Amino acid sequence: MASIPTHAFFAVGLTRALKSDASVGLLARSAALACLADLDVVGLLYKVPYDAPWGHRGATHSCLAAAVLALAGGKAYPLLLLAALTHPFLDMLTDGGRGVAFLWPYSAERYFLPWRPIPVSPIGANFFSERGLHVLSMELLMIWAPTALLLWLSIRRKG
Ligand SMILES: [Zn+2]
Repeated sequence: MASIPTHAFFAVGLTRALKSDASVGLLARSAALACLADLDVVGLLYKVPYDAPWGHRGATHSCLAAAVLALAGGKAYPLLLLAALTHPFLDMLTDGGRGVAFLWPYSAERYFLPWRPIPVSPIGANFFSERGLHVLSMELLMIWAPTALLLWLSIRRKG
């Protein structure tokens, strides 16, 4: 996975860029929807196998889950769906793990995108490590900086 703060920031940036008058509530819902897929890490505590449908990067990372979660977000469904979908797409850009079950339940196959430049983030407390710092620095460069530029351009365009 990309780190949770990165998932949230990217979704907020994208939502704000697409809807210049997005409310704080909409941005908060976008951030939340972009992070919820990783609740599946709770399964690791209960020994759910990584490759199982409900394992990490399984059903919760599917386009179906994004569609259902976005329904719970209330108004602005297309933006919230996009925010929820950013999660599996960022994960499919990472260089580790076993891929994303994007098409679940149609297919249990795990997918990556052809280009995987983002180093995979350590899970849980392991994030606070030298490897976590490396991941965060790479995410700042590859995701936060372009997202901040997108935000700046969208704010400038409006003004
Ligand atoms: Zn994830």
